[in-house]
Amino acid sequence: MYYDLHTHTVWSDGDLEPASLVADASAAGVRVLALTDHDTMAGIDEAARAAHVHGIQFIPGVELSVTWAGGVTVHVVGLGVDGANAQLRQALENLREARLKRGRAMVEALSAAGLGGAQSVLERPGIVSRVHVADWLVACGHAPDRARAFKRFLVRGAPGHVAVQWPDIGVAVDWIRGAGGCPVLAHPSRYRLSGGRLEQLVRAFVEAGGLALEVVTAGLDAGEIGRLARLARRHALHASVGSDFHKALPWRLRPGGLPELPGDCRPVWERWPAIRLQGAD
Ligand code: AMP
Ligand code: MN
Ligand code: MN
Ligand code: MN
Repeated sequence: MYYDLHTHTVWSDGDLEPASLVADASAAGVRVLALTDHDTMAGIDEAARAAHVHGIQFIPGVELSVTWAGGVTVHVVGLGVDGANAQLRQALENLREARLKRGRAMVEALSAAGLGGAQSVLERPGIVSRVHVADWLVACGHAPDRARAFKRFLVRGAPGHVAVQWPDIGVAVDWIRGAGGCPVLAHPSRYRLSGGRLEQLVRAFVEAGGLALEVVTAGLDAGEIGRLARLARRHALHASVGSDFHKALPWRLRPGGLPELPGDCRPVWERWPAIRLQGAD
């Protein structure tokens, strides 16, 4: 696959350093790569340098956690954002702080539940995510794997869960557009919304200034991809493609291992006529 516009590194909850991610993506045939870590752009400079070395096109990005309709957490990817934009930088700094604060509260909540000693997760250089707490729980033998660590300790109603208020979807879309980026509604199938609710979410996203829908992402079959392609068309949204790569696992796609966008989609890269692929043709 030529394009992979949704990936993570150690600066959020991915396993690879930015340079390794770029090397892997390049080896897999990706020619246009976006790095979209959760709520941080700390890995962007290293990834951009590596992309230059490998001769692939690099798109600076970010994946913002946002709140929709007062309580549903949704992810909005910003593609082509300017990391030097003052408003976006301030927003990311605030999010880093909010995540650290939630991390501290999770450590305390787990300690109160008899699982002391998770402070080390607060000391990492990148953002603090529930994933890091889950990995600590697994490493200490409190859960057999990440999925069960989430289920037992970190989801709503579980002893280590701490509610967090993410920015409103419209605010996050404004930050992305204010920094020259394209807001993409990430992995629409993963919110477990009914068809009607998903339609409402997409409408709210469009009204807020959203411009694209992630139509191809990991784990979707052809039927689901077709359904999302029609959803994008109905709302006149461009279509994006991203593996959401976090970690090398035998059952997980490598960067670039996705199917093509359906032919009736308007690819999100048509929004960037300025992009010239290095080494293409
Ligand atoms: P956070 O943004 O800190 O609340 O963490 C959310 C991240 O945790 C998502 O981006 C996923 O990568 C990961 N995640 C969420 N739910 C699960 C789960 N049930 N099992 C494993 N990873 C999960
Ligand atoms: Mn993640
Ligand atoms: Mn996501
Ligand atoms: Mn992601």
